[in-house]
Amino acid sequence: MSHIALLPSSGMGHLTPFLRLAALLTANNLKITIITPYPTLSLAESQVLFHFFSTFPQIRQEKLHLLPLDKFSGNSKEDPFYCHIEVIRQSSHLLSSLLSSLSPPLAALITDMSLTASVVPITKALNIPNYIFFTSSAQMLTLFISFHTKANANLNEMDAFQIPTLEPIPKSWIPPPLLRDIDNLLKTYITENGKEMTKSDGILVNTLESIEQESLAALNGGKVILGLPSVTAIGLLPPCFNNCESLAWLDTQPIGSVLYVSFGSRTTMSREQLKELGDGLMRSGYRFLWVVKDKRVDREDDKDLEDVIGNELTESVKERGLVVKYWLNQENILSHPAVGGFLSHCGWNSLTEAMWLGVRVLAWPQHGDQKINASLVESIGLGIWESSWGWGGEDIVKGQQIAEKISELMGNELLRMKAVSVREKARAGMELGETSVKMKALAKLIETWKKNR
Ligand code: UDP
Ligand code: UDP
Repeated sequence: MSHIALLPSSGMGHLTPFLRLAALLTANNLKITIITPYPTLSLAESQVLFHFFSTFPQIRQEKLHLLPLDKFSGNSKEDPFYCHIEVIRQSSHLLSSLLSSLSPPLAALITDMSLTASVVPITKALNIPNYIFFTSSAQMLTLFISFHTKANANLNEMDAFQIPTLEPIPKSWIPPPLLRDIDNLLKTYITENGKEMTKSDGILVNTLESIEQESLAALNGGKVILGLPSVTAIGLLPPCFNNCESLAWLDTQPIGSVLYVSFGSRTTMSREQLKELGDGLMRSGYRFLWVVKDKRVDREDDKDLEDVIGNELTESVKERGLVVKYWLNQENILSHPAVGGFLSHCGWNSLTEAMWLGVRVLAWPQHGDQKINASLVESIGLGIWESSWGWGGEDIVKGQQIAEKISELMGNELLRMKAVSVREKARAGMELGETSVKMKALAKLIETWKKNR
């Protein structure tokens, strides 16, 4: 049996699609090892790993024991997940002996995009084909791999980021740290990894040909950068757990009546913005399920809900909604018949889940790749985006404005139907319950790997 190893990076947004891919590959007669950087930063990651390896005992876990790099923890101004990626990067030389000790020898390694520059030289030396898994959209990939070519230009003087044959990416959509003069981890990470992508054996993206055809064609046609290996749309990757935990409150709500509000696993809002959001939810008149986060890293999130949104709001929201401050399995929520809309930060996994489950989206991007993803929400008909709201923390969006947009989303029957048709597209290449790969592109790659060893 051919042996494939996968190396995810830090954060649920990177780990989740890797686990989905591993589950799909193991169902296709490949021996799978997942190399998990240890320890993980968030509790959510360590819990999902535990659950995953109990569900798939045939998949092997190897831990990459990270070096104790204290300078990246604690008081850094940088985002803790970027700091954790930096620690993984700086520990990656330890991979060399780990990879060569795996048996049978690897037919390929699938590496997270954030580790490209540190891991490709290692796999080259060991003669192991290395495929990069890009865990955001193909459009974001066009920016990721061409950013370094413009790194010396003054991006602030440009109105937009131009990539040949593609619509320019407006400056306001570019992750703000990339526009700063001073160095920061995101800028270094995109510059260095983007450059090194051409040296990998292939790039995988959790997306669909039918929704990102232009970006994929430009990437594969040598328009974005020369010498790029083939970019394969392997999505949309289906959920890998049959999770039946239920939420009693949701079970009692009418079909399609509830707006689910969540900003992913690592995004927080100021207290003032949370207050306006609560006000907006109440004013909208719709039912809602709202997941509140107070700290980017879940282990540090120790305050009670009342302390974060205040007693008054905690009491008043009970009339029409449920507000929680703990981890809920999002796929379960989005697949519940009572859920009729999703107010989302537009993390790529959240959007792929909304597409897979056909739930219309009100996009409120906060940071990183999220405005680029939000633009797709509009262009594919999955939902609406009020781009004047800006990045998270830039301006305070008022309750009244939020309420208006919620009504625009939840009251729009056409949008509901459009989201259902996105779901049809997303599933066209795959049948639920089927264990073998129906997606032609991934099936082809699997054949290549099977021939490798
Ligand atoms: N997620 C979840 N419950 C939560 C928050 C997030 O299950 O309370 C999952 C979500 O379904 C998605 C992942 O965590 O698969 C978050 O990834 P995404 O790319 O959407 O955003 P990020 O958290 O990286 O900003
Ligand atoms: N942010 C967040 N989680 C992240 C990254 C950013 O909650 O993983 C928030 C952050 O608090 C800020 C906003 O998103 O309010 C913009 O962050 P960005 O990384 O774009 O810039 P910076 O944090 O360096 O100002």
